[in-house]
Amino acid sequence: MSDRVDAQVHKIRAAVLRTKGGPLRIEPLELEGPRDDEVLVRLVATGICHTDIDMCDHWDGADGPVVLGHEGAGVVEQVGKSVKSFKCGDHVVLSYQSCGRCRHCRSGHPPHCEHFYEANFGFRRLDGSNALHRSGVRGHFFGQSSFATHTLATARNLVKVSKNLRLEVLAPLGCGLQTGAGTVMNSLEASSGAGIAIFGTGAVGLAAVMAARIVGADPIIGVDIIPGRLELALELGATHVIDNRHDPVASRIAAITGGGVAYVLETTGNPKMRQLATEVLNPGGTVAIFTGATGTRSLPGGRKSLGIIEGDAVPQRFIPELIALYRAGRFPLDRLVNFYAFDEINRAIADAKRGETVKPVLRISEP
Ligand SMILES: [Zn+2]
Ligand SMILES: [Zn+2]
Repeated sequence: MSDRVDAQVHKIRAAVLRTKGGPLRIEPLELEGPRDDEVLVRLVATGICHTDIDMCDHWDGADGPVVLGHEGAGVVEQVGKSVKSFKCGDHVVLSYQSCGRCRHCRSGHPPHCEHFYEANFGFRRLDGSNALHRSGVRGHFFGQSSFATHTLATARNLVKVSKNLRLEVLAPLGCGLQTGAGTVMNSLEASSGAGIAIFGTGAVGLAAVMAARIVGADPIIGVDIIPGRLELALELGATHVIDNRHDPVASRIAAITGGGVAYVLETTGNPKMRQLATEVLNPGGTVAIFTGATGTRSLPGGRKSLGIIEGDAVPQRFIPELIALYRAGRFPLDRLVNFYAFDEINRAIADAKRGETVKPVLRISEP
């Protein structure tokens, strides 16, 4: 098969959201493409990220049904004419999309892309088109919509990976794990000996725990309400854990540190935890928040809050770094993952919501 083909229509199957809160239903759809700057990827697996679940629960249906999913991993099947860096058969991890043209993209900071929202949450290409329009469904979520057998991506949101590694394990690197690890290593640049508290030990929080251990942070304090997750946090590098159903977080952190911490990652989105984060920070400390807000806000005592997007990670640089750490046994991301068949997607989402599964990964096809 030639690498270079004209745009055509592909029969695919995808999990479509037509009802607020789900369930998602797997339906046959028609996908047009790839365009000259796109790559057609057959998905082998996809992670389910908290943002997929939020989108599902808050979708209002006004602009029509959508395909979610933004932690895809798969094999390149077709390559558009102007794509030089990928070829058929390449194994790839899919990440977030960026425009490539704005000043932030051109200066190497795609998480700050001026078109980040449209490119990732617009459910269309930046030119307004939609490869699933024949089926009356919107795709291109995070430049991928990976709850599908096939999808389109571009060189900007694809990362080539080794064929020796299991794609199903690497899938969640594209968003959740990159975000958690990137927050510690890129956004906060936490260094050896810095105290760090991680509120919420889901996928983002546990990736942050592993990254905190890698940079030598100490103490590393995990806070959650699910005992199984706290145990996992201890195994992955937390020096202390606090179950905030029973334990007073502020006084426990004061007792552990003799004061407070330099950094808090507030991954729960709970306003009370946000308030608590400020209370346990040392003067000059930083709380990282994951609400979609960007930029820095000043808090009393020289403290600040920092809005995190994708852990300030450039996927083509950071994901290979994380894979190297995984191979060295220092970033054991496989410990976070539970696998499900593609048609078990609604059960996977339910398990993630209950906190029973940290990171669900759907198996979509054989590598
Ligand atoms: Zn941009
Ligand atoms: Zn995500």
